[in-house]
Amino acid sequence: MKRNINLRLLSYTVIAYMMLAFAWWSVLLFVKNRDAYMAKRDKDRIVLIARGVVSSDVEYFESDYYKDLTRKYKRQEWMILGESIVFVISLVIGIWLINRGYNKEVNAARQQRNFLLSITHELKSPIASIRLVLETLAKRRLKKEQSEKLNNSALKELDRLNGLVNDLLLSAKLETAYQLHLEPFQLDEFLADLVLEMKEKYPKAQFSFRSAEEDLTINGDKTGLTSVAINLLENAVKYSGKEPKIDVFLESDEKNVRFSVADEGIGIDDKEKKNIFDKFYRVGSEDTRKTKGTGLGLYIVNQIVRAHKGAIEVSNHPPQGTVFTVTLPYNPAEIS
Ligand code: ADP
Repeated sequence: MKRNINLRLLSYTVIAYMMLAFAWWSVLLFVKNRDAYMAKRDKDRIVLIARGVVSSDVEYFESDYYKDLTRKYKRQEWMILGESIVFVISLVIGIWLINRGYNKEVNAARQQRNFLLSITHELKSPIASIRLVLETLAKRRLKKEQSEKLNNSALKELDRLNGLVNDLLLSAKLETAYQLHLEPFQLDEFLADLVLEMKEKYPKAQFSFRSAEEDLTINGDKTGLTSVAINLLENAVKYSGKEPKIDVFLESDEKNVRFSVADEGIGIDDKEKKNIFDKFYRVGSEDTRKTKGTGLGLYIVNQIVRAHKGAIEVSNHPPQGTVFTVTLPYNPAEIS
């Protein structure tokens, strides 16, 4: 980190030196150009008077020789000014591009670090829990009830592990060989079923589903859209307090269908909103964060929505919480 700051400081010093040196050279060029012009003017004047081409200083200053010379000088002055401006603009654009690239690198490195820390934790903790369950089952004779409880918790951990591995594979696939398997289905029914599943999974959370229309058929990739809706719903639960309240709303217009997932949770800072769809991005740092995750969910959601030629937006849900709105065309195959 310190090395980075030093490097930055060094680059800024070099840039400042370049700017100053360039300003100095420009002024020098201006002055030298003016000196050369004045010397040439005086020389021409004397030579022309001596040759008898003009009879006096006044006549020289009115002659075409003088006017030509002055025009050339003025043109050179404008050229120097123009070049200076172009140089400064290119330098500023160059610095801006370098700075942007640098910031991107720093962010990518931070995300990678965050990812490694969270993925290690996310992979290791279910493995450790399953191991513990297996060891306990092997060592002790337990009552049927107790062993069932342990079994269930091991299965839950396995599901989590499976989900994580699936997310990792899907995110790799989305970058290379992802193909939509489009089929017609009723989006209102599909979302209502997913909300029901979530109700069963999270009995403490309150879910509601409203649809402005019935029998809303779209052409979409069911597996992909399941991933989209589940990720948004799971996040809404995960980033709410102890009693999450989540509203899912579906509507449509002539061109698109639109569904939103609104929660009353912790909300997302405006300056974080543009980052949350990046791969491995999680708000905050590994040391301060309380929730589990890998930063892959919204990346996957965004990629799948975009593969459907749709869009996802995030906004505040006043007074508290977040709304994710997914807009999808009725049939991505018809959109060029
Ligand atoms: P993960 O949940 O594994 O961290 P995601 O890609 O699903 O990764 O989300 C990225 C980040 O966006 C999360 O770390 C969280 O900070 C923020 N986020 C996502 N959904 C919500 C939400 N409903 N409310 C508040 N913050 C959210």
